[in-house]
Amino acid sequence: MQRPPKGKTPRRPGPKKASNIEKDPVGVYCRIRPLGTVDEECCVEMISSTTIQLHAPDGLKANRNGEFKETQYSFKKVFGINTTQMELFEDVAKPLVEDLIHCKNGLLFTYGVTGSGKTYTMTGSPGEGGLLPRCLDMLFNSIGPFQAKRFVFKPDDKNGMEVQCQVEALLERQKRESQQSMPKTPSSRQKADPEFTDMISSEQACKSENVDEDCCYSIFVSYIEVYNNYIYDLLEDAPFDPIRSKPPQSRILREDQNHNMYVAGCTEVEVKSTDEAFEVFWKGQKKRRIANTQLNRESSRSHSVFTVKLAQAPLDADGDHVLQDKNQVNVSQLCLVDLAGSERTNRTRAEGSRLREAGSINQSLMTLRTCIEVLRENQMCGTNKMVPYRDSKVTHLFKNYFDGEGKVRMIVCVNPKADDYDESLLVMRFAEMTQEVEVARPVDRPICGLTAGRRYKNQAFRDELTQRLEERGSPSNVGEFIERLPALPPCELVDPSDDQTLPRLIEVLERRHRIRQMMTAQYNITANTLSSMLQQLESQLAANETFLYDQRNKLNEKDKMIVHQRAELERLEKKSKTLEYKVDVLQKTTDVYEQDKRSLQQDLQSFEQRLQKELSDKRRMEQRMQGVVTDTKLKWEKECERRVNAKQLEMQNKLWVKDEKLKQLKAIVTESAAGSSSSSSSPAERPEKPERPSRERDRNVAQKRSASPSPHPMALPAHPIHRRSRSAGGEKWVDHKPPNNLELDTVMQPIIPNAIKVSTPNEKALSKCHKYLLRHQELASDGEIETKLIKGDVFKTRTGGQAVHFTDVETLKECTMAPSRKRRSGSGERTHMEDIENRAPVASNVYQKRRKP
Ligand code: ADP
Ligand code: MG
Repeated sequence: MQRPPKGKTPRRPGPKKASNIEKDPVGVYCRIRPLGTVDEECCVEMISSTTIQLHAPDGLKANRNGEFKETQYSFKKVFGINTTQMELFEDVAKPLVEDLIHCKNGLLFTYGVTGSGKTYTMTGSPGEGGLLPRCLDMLFNSIGPFQAKRFVFKPDDKNGMEVQCQVEALLERQKRESQQSMPKTPSSRQKADPEFTDMISSEQACKSENVDEDCCYSIFVSYIEVYNNYIYDLLEDAPFDPIRSKPPQSRILREDQNHNMYVAGCTEVEVKSTDEAFEVFWKGQKKRRIANTQLNRESSRSHSVFTVKLAQAPLDADGDHVLQDKNQVNVSQLCLVDLAGSERTNRTRAEGSRLREAGSINQSLMTLRTCIEVLRENQMCGTNKMVPYRDSKVTHLFKNYFDGEGKVRMIVCVNPKADDYDESLLVMRFAEMTQEVEVARPVDRPICGLTAGRRYKNQAFRDELTQRLEERGSPSNVGEFIERLPALPPCELVDPSDDQTLPRLIEVLERRHRIRQMMTAQYNITANTLSSMLQQLESQLAANETFLYDQRNKLNEKDKMIVHQRAELERLEKKSKTLEYKVDVLQKTTDVYEQDKRSLQQDLQSFEQRLQKELSDKRRMEQRMQGVVTDTKLKWEKECERRVNAKQLEMQNKLWVKDEKLKQLKAIVTESAAGSSSSSSSPAERPEKPERPSRERDRNVAQKRSASPSPHPMALPAHPIHRRSRSAGGEKWVDHKPPNNLELDTVMQPIIPNAIKVSTPNEKALSKCHKYLLRHQELASDGEIETKLIKGDVFKTRTGGQAVHFTDVETLKECTMAPSRKRRSGSGERTHMEDIENRAPVASNVYQKRRKP
């Protein structure tokens, strides 16, 4: 298709996703800068004009077990270390400037690690001007003579361009001139910036040959910096305050009515020459430097975007002034971007807030990479994933370029030194991926602009018409008609006899009439086609509407579901709250119970302890009691033994007394027999018992009777002969019977007449009596109660009281005896019974009378 000499870039992204749109891959170029020092290790080798090879540095190979293979990367073109700035410009930037002049947008950015030569490539150095000054130079060289006067074009602050009439422009010029009191000559600058003339030598001047001379042009430049994902205007005319310098204000991105992104409120300076443009660039550059120093930024971590905007509008019919129609103004722009170093954060060894900032800068490069990846994936796999342009300012700003709003070119800068190997590898991978992304080729589709300049007026019209009809699917023979449209012959009649002019004119007019008719017919056909197309579209629209309606219904259903779910959620939340409350209460109850349990356990413990103590007390008591019992038992055993002994003694005594009596009786008998027959005594007895005179014997007996009883068996006690009559005689007795004494049925109770009976010892009673009897009851060893009758004499003491001298003890004892057994008992028993005075032979109770010494 022949490209018209003049066209307009469509501002609005059209239906670009259609498959018939021509696409170009992103142009990726590679530039290798020379090594800093000759003896440095080099890891990049240029093996052809389009391919480079990366070698892993020796140290790295050794570290990673040599598992490295040489990697090759291909680009649209590779520029080696000897490439001049001019050569690079010719290949990479010049076509973009050509496009710019022809109303097409362009984006050129440099990518690479810090120190790889991005800034050198973009800006250059004196004598070695980079792409930016060269683009400006070529632009001004090309459109210089066709520039409009200052302020004829005026940015409308919405990314559009207005046209002012001559008078308005003049007034504004005067106003600005009066405002600018400061002289603007280069000599007034504080620090000498490189002049443009220093950067590019005049023999390298470059120019586009295809400039539309029927148009008027104006160039505007803007310069922004993106740092930490904030946009700063580097050309902002902030009043300079040397004492309190304000931090720069960040700018926001907006979308204009054609969906193109722009920096809102960004300063756009109209420049009329390369020098002026370059001066403005340096002004921004200086501002950037100052900001970096003041805010302690790292310059390598910011992106800078220098935008050259070209406004062009056709001249009016006179060819003197710009056509006063805003719609006829075309604006195209070329963005020259010097990106931040692509290295990862740790390489710069930044810390704290700078690290965060650096992270954010890296983030924007990351986003750029992600966008490219998604674009590539969408294009290769036919997917329609959303490209995350909005994730960073840089990608958001250039969104339109990747969507097909202009040509995109990238120069990948590499420093071949071995230190950069790892980072260079990443750069290469990104570059390779970027190449696979295709960007729609900007097509020339003028929106209106039918009032072109003088020279190409008809041609432009023809082209326009043909193209439009073609687009609508009409037959393309209209062009032919137009081609055949005969020019009007000169119709000036100077000679009355001229009979040729009029017929020729008539003929031409007739031909034109015929053509007109044909065109009308064609027009009708086209109109019909158009109306049928419209109908089709309408039916499509209706179908779409029903679809939309369906979707809306579905949406409503979903909404309802959401509402329902939300209610359910609320209910569950309430329930969970109630349960939580219950759990709380239960927890508290449990706590109380636990406390109770603890206190009860404590009580139990104390009780157990008390019990233990009592048990041990009891055991001690038992032991003590056992001791007491044993003691008592021993005591009683001794007592019994003693009594038995006493009894034995008593019995011996009795025996002895009986013997004595017998002996006395014998003696008496013998004496009386001797009295009658003194010689009848047997001589055998004499030597055994020496005869004593009877008086002496009587005295001995009397002595013996009056003597107090002696326990000594050898000193025989003289027991007074007891007679019951004595106890029952005329003596007066005190019968002391303690109140706790029991009435027993002992048969042989003592009977004491005239006795004074007392229950407690009574002195008064004693004073009246001579004898005292105490009835003492105790438990005998055989378990029977025995009653002791303790008898004594009462004496009057010298002090006037009474004393009792116990003289006799009688024991009354009860025992059970079967009478039949008694009768049957043998002679042994009988002897035992001899001592018992049996007064009641059939009684079961026997009274034993014993005398105790
Ligand atoms: P970047 O902007 O990528 O951090 P620079 O452009 O500042 O790197 O380059 C760093 C240094 O290397 C500068 O001193 C520059 O002059 C030099 N340099 C870069 N590329 C080249 C080149 N192609 N030829 C000569 N010197 C270069
Ligand atoms: Mg740089």
